[in-house]
Amino acid sequence: MRKIVLAVVLALLFLPLSETVSKAASSFNDVSTGHRAYKEIKYLFDGKIVTGSLDGYFNPGKIVTRGEAAAMIGRALNLNETKRSTQFSDVGSQYFASGYIQAAADAKIITGYKDGSFKPNNPVNRGEMAVILSKAFNYNFGGTLSGAAKALMTRGISGGMADGTFGSDLATIRADFSVFLARAINYKLRLNPTENFSLERTVTASSLNVRSGPSTAYPAVGSLVKGTKVEVAYSVGQWLYVRSGSTEGLVHSAYLDADIDTGNDNILSQQTIVIDAGHGGKDPGAIGYGLKEKDIVLNTALKVKALLAKSPFQYKLTRETDVYLALDERIDIAEDADADVFVSIHANAFNGSAKGSETYYYAAKNTNTADSKLLATKIQDRLIAAGKLNDRGVKNGNYHVLRENGMPAVLTELGFIDNKGDNAKLASPSWRDAAAKAIYYGILDYYKAKGFDVSDLY
Ligand SMILES: [Zn+2]
Repeated sequence: MRKIVLAVVLALLFLPLSETVSKAASSFNDVSTGHRAYKEIKYLFDGKIVTGSLDGYFNPGKIVTRGEAAAMIGRALNLNETKRSTQFSDVGSQYFASGYIQAAADAKIITGYKDGSFKPNNPVNRGEMAVILSKAFNYNFGGTLSGAAKALMTRGISGGMADGTFGSDLATIRADFSVFLARAINYKLRLNPTENFSLERTVTASSLNVRSGPSTAYPAVGSLVKGTKVEVAYSVGQWLYVRSGSTEGLVHSAYLDADIDTGNDNILSQQTIVIDAGHGGKDPGAIGYGLKEKDIVLNTALKVKALLAKSPFQYKLTRETDVYLALDERIDIAEDADADVFVSIHANAFNGSAKGSETYYYAAKNTNTADSKLLATKIQDRLIAAGKLNDRGVKNGNYHVLRENGMPAVLTELGFIDNKGDNAKLASPSWRDAAAKAIYYGILDYYKAKGFDVSDLY
């Protein structure tokens, strides 16, 4: 009896401390240098991304809770840690990870349950972990567990289980979560460390430290002088994994600029794209077969955002959550952002038999009419090629967001939500991936037609 009481007291002592105290020593009592996850746990510990108990234990075999996962991801991506009230009924402002949970929810990395709860003490299974990591690191995973598992395995972040499966239903222990997170952050830790360095940027700081991890807690492994061109592989929050000659590692994106080809005055990084997801909040838009337009178009807009995030363009969404916006507010957001291109995304409804995609521009008394029509044509062409819906063409539309905007502006109707065939496409995450890519490519096609060099962005 006494032993049990003692065990409970010890557990109570350790549990609340496990994520709040950072140990000063360089390793944990229960993670020896021979531990299979030593390298990765040490890497995360060096960057204060994982912590242990006050007396120096990491508990590598302990199951990761949803709250702990949010905290580790939040520290890795430098999300806003300030404890605060959250959108979830069961995460109060005093909960240790309340800031990270709300920030990760804002960034669409984690979601709660239908009843409004987050269940921070529930375990994270491996499938959920794969989805969280895929969202946190912007992997294209099609919104499915199997897609997320594949995203991790193809990158050498996870080798899968001995039987060849991913083990999605198994609980995630702290050692495994650490291994996967460390490998996502630094590809050199992966099973087959290769990466595509597909973008080029230029150093704008007079001297820029390249670090081994995504925070100033990590040591500098080199430094780059102003004007140095670097190749970029991927982002970790606001940090980018870059390479220049034999120097490679992570740098803060604030000290890099889009590469400017001398002689090319058309600088993409000075162009701002505003994506407008129609409807929202109290206004569901069109409804059909259980789908609401506001949800479909928001999801598609966020997918476009993910693509723009990897480009040199500046971008802004009029809404990133399910909120109501008046039409004038949408215009104000675009004008405040000094937008160069405005794309509003909608879905249609009519009589159930009408079907297909169409894109509108405003054809009367507007200095941007020619550009608006060009943009509409490029997006419509890509949408039809990728989405395979009936081509209803490019049309003149006297819509508020087109008529009142002071920049090239279009409104695209992805398909008819009340038509059975179109609805099935709109309901499919992979179809929406394709639609988002079509909108992004349409924007690139537009810039290409305007004389900008976008050749390496496709
Ligand atoms: Zn609409």
